[in-house]
Amino acid sequence: MDDLDLAPRPLTLMAVHAHPDDETIGTGGTMARAVGASRRVVLVTCTRGEMGEIVMSELDTPENHRRLGELRAAELEAAMTELGVTEWDNLGYRDSDMMGRPGNLDPRCFWQADLDEAIGRLTWLVRRHRPEVITTYNDFGGYGHPDHIRTHQVAIGAFERAGDPGWYPTQLVEGGVAPWTPLKLYEQAVPRSVRLAMVERTEAMGQRSFWSAPENASPEEMVEYEAFLARALIPDDQITTRVDVNDFLEAK
Ligand SMILES: [Zn+2]
Repeated sequence: MDDLDLAPRPLTLMAVHAHPDDETIGTGGTMARAVGASRRVVLVTCTRGEMGEIVMSELDTPENHRRLGELRAAELEAAMTELGVTEWDNLGYRDSDMMGRPGNLDPRCFWQADLDEAIGRLTWLVRRHRPEVITTYNDFGGYGHPDHIRTHQVAIGAFERAGDPGWYPTQLVEGGVAPWTPLKLYEQAVPRSVRLAMVERTEAMGQRSFWSAPENASPEEMVEYEAFLARALIPDDQITTRVDVNDFLEAK
């Protein structure tokens, strides 16, 4: 045990996310609140988000798509400044695009990565940063995106393995870290009632939501949509913990 281990350390929150922007959308208020309470906050993003959509049409150019990973890294840095977070890491995987598209078959992408190897990368970060609490997504990745599903699997795996010296023993010898067992893991969620209210509000503003029913849908598409909602909406009574972020909405 060296001096570092004896020094008092702040309680640490580690938020594990799939792409740059997910951290702010999903847990930005929680992260800012933790910083405000003098907690240490570490963000881990699993991919660089190279396959994301560019929603502002004037920026939607081939050049910007080619350097989207860089652009999103810069956006993430700016977002961390707003939230007051000073530590972030990236697992280094390529964005997995969407199921059924060519990017999803790219051998460099997160979806194609060896799961034990990916869990090992996050395990090293857990052992290094020693968070008490980890946040991630549920086993549907919130809405079925392959990178979000994989993020859940990797976060659960690292949560379970980081404290076990039998897993990734070379990290303990050569990686300069010790086993560490976090206390809690949370899956972020938007309760069903809130999600439906958000969709309603968005549609009332004349815009479609990702969660809106498909337009001019065939009966088969409606069945598919209903099945998606049944899987993706989180019943309010399954929510175990609420974090009041009202004072941090401006930063978010
Ligand atoms: Zn994402």
